[in-house]
Amino acid sequence: MNSSKTDLKNFDQQGLIEFVEQLNQPSFRGKQLMAWLYKPGISDFWQMTDLAKKFRQVLNDNAYISSFDKPLMERSSDGCVKFGFRLSDGYLIEAVLIPETDRNTLCVSSQVGCAMDCSFCLTGTMGFIRNLSPSEIVNQVCSVRDFLLDEPRESLIGPTEVTNLVFMGMGEPLNNLSNLLTSISILTEQKGLDFTGRRITVSTCGIVPKMRILGENSTVNLAVSLHAIDDDTRNILMPVNKRYPLAELLEACRTYPMPKRRRIMIEYTLLQGINDSDAAAYELARRLKPIPCKINLLAFNECDGIPYKSPTRERLLAFQDILRKNHYSVFIRTSRGSDISAACGQLASENNS
Ligand code: SF4
Repeated sequence: MNSSKTDLKNFDQQGLIEFVEQLNQPSFRGKQLMAWLYKPGISDFWQMTDLAKKFRQVLNDNAYISSFDKPLMERSSDGCVKFGFRLSDGYLIEAVLIPETDRNTLCVSSQVGCAMDCSFCLTGTMGFIRNLSPSEIVNQVCSVRDFLLDEPRESLIGPTEVTNLVFMGMGEPLNNLSNLLTSISILTEQKGLDFTGRRITVSTCGIVPKMRILGENSTVNLAVSLHAIDDDTRNILMPVNKRYPLAELLEACRTYPMPKRRRIMIEYTLLQGINDSDAAAYELARRLKPIPCKINLLAFNECDGIPYKSPTRERLLAFQDILRKNHYSVFIRTSRGSDISAACGQLASENNS
């Protein structure tokens, strides 16, 4: 990589158009470039055969196409694959592929570390290091797409492509909103990576003012990590609650601008003796009433360095039952990849310290 040159994967289509115009090229060249940059196997401008040779030379002098080196990989016994991508400044970020028979969900990172300090999350213990650029976000997807294309078909559990994306890896995506929006634009542009907004989910711990900006500027799904339904408990689990308390967060969910018939995904991780009582389930049912939502319940994954315990299976089912009787769609999300520390809340790279 040459730092005096521009990484074209940091631009969405509009950004590419503006970039080529600065090089005194017509705007349609930006669209042509977009169509090339995200084709598998394209790593230099000389492969872009329908671009004029002179233009390719101009590009070569001023820009480059970033990609990650071969990632570190760990495979879970349940089929999940954790990828470790080394960034140009040496930091390591992680993404997790979660294959099912009909889909491949990729959990991507948006930051190195995280500033939000949720007390049940290993990433939070790293602190915040830096935001990922748009190219560092989309290159996680490109790299796993290429991995799937190279894998022998018979060894795959799911399809040969990444079908769904969740921003639930390292970092709070809304704390990196501008780069997040640019990456979503690249991911959803037809000439880019061509995902529909419906297949992308952004998860937030509740950065209230930025939720609306995300909703007004994209058609992705929103997941909100709630994890407690009273301010005292949530203040302990998620310090962001002191800044944006539950009442404000729930109001932001109620008024969140989203496409018709969509619902917000409420994420609720049960921690034994902390937030898993019947009373908490009834209160959750009561306070979510005005919000079009579905609920994902997750049993906490115990790990070294985090003081909480998993709830019993009976407790999890009883909690679900109360919510179901209150007419919510409630799913118990099975945690995948825990044997390789790739499950929810377990992403924290030891190699960044
Ligand atoms: S749960 Fe999410 S927002 Fe909270 S510390 Fe972990 S990565 Fe950050």
